[in-house]
Amino acid sequence: MANLEELRGKIAAIREEIRKETANLQDSKAVYELKKSFLDKSGRIGQLMRYMKDVDPSQRAEFGKNVNALKDWALEHFNSMDEEMRRREVQAQYEREKIDITMPSHRRTAGNLHPVTQVRNQLIDIFSGMGFEIFEGTEVENDYYNFTALNTPKDHPARDMQDTFYLSPDFVLRTQTSAAQIHVMENEKPPIKILSPGKVFRSDDDATHSPMFSQMEGLVVDKGITLGDLQGMLDVFVKKVFGDETRTRLRPSFFPFTEPSVEVDVSCFECGGKGCNFCKHTGWIEILGAGIVNRKVLENCGVDPDVYSGLAFGIGIERVAMLKYGINNIKQLFESDLRVLEQINDK
Ligand SMILES: [Zn+2]
Repeated sequence: MANLEELRGKIAAIREEIRKETANLQDSKAVYELKKSFLDKSGRIGQLMRYMKDVDPSQRAEFGKNVNALKDWALEHFNSMDEEMRRREVQAQYEREKIDITMPSHRRTAGNLHPVTQVRNQLIDIFSGMGFEIFEGTEVENDYYNFTALNTPKDHPARDMQDTFYLSPDFVLRTQTSAAQIHVMENEKPPIKILSPGKVFRSDDDATHSPMFSQMEGLVVDKGITLGDLQGMLDVFVKKVFGDETRTRLRPSFFPFTEPSVEVDVSCFECGGKGCNFCKHTGWIEILGAGIVNRKVLENCGVDPDVYSGLAFGIGIERVAMLKYGINNIKQLFESDLRVLEQINDK
């Protein structure tokens, strides 16, 4: 027979043990583990019930009451420990994640549009203001639209394999945005006034040429269109891009799809036309090619050349960007060097 006094001693010892052990716990996980070791069925308190059979039957109820009291006390003790630990843990987390709102922030540098995109947008803006509509053609063209319809005969040097990327005998990567003219004239009746920006491709590679570059083609077809209209539009364009002092001049040139054809020069915006290194001491800088649309091209598209005439111009967007921002190697426009790109931000 177990003595009830003796068992009460065990109960008191367990209570003392719980007090002692919980005093040193550091976190809620440790509280949980310790709680299990005392309160699980096989835990130290649960095990006390094993003594029940050894207790004098008249004292069993008393012993059971004592064990239950210990259990209730232990449960409450562990729960309040747990609560305290969690409160401390949350507090510690707040401390860890505290943000000092008085600290200066890191400055984030905002990106800006690529110089070629900036120029492209500016050109679109200028010509839209003159009533041009945007028509984007396709980068893959067939031989007919890229050459034949533009009055570029089979034996023309521009069709040489050296200059053109052929995808197949019939298909090419367009060498000029002029191809878009044909699509528009085939599908629309004059008056036509379109601007066609896009990438073009030529197997050409040096400081001022890249195998891929961007052009912007302008086409106007209506009754009575002359070179005077062309020069008027281009005057507006160069003044807006290079400054109000800038003048234009036309020089005779040759393109198969225009007749007459002209190269358009602008007065040097570095020296104002006096002559400097930038303009190779001529006072002028070549900026684009243009002309009056060749009668044959109009005919090819079903437009009567005796009723209508047209003007066309092709602007190299990288060329304008290089002139405008003083870039002397076209590669700088494709290398994505932030030191260069960061300096060019008109907006
Ligand atoms: Zn100059």
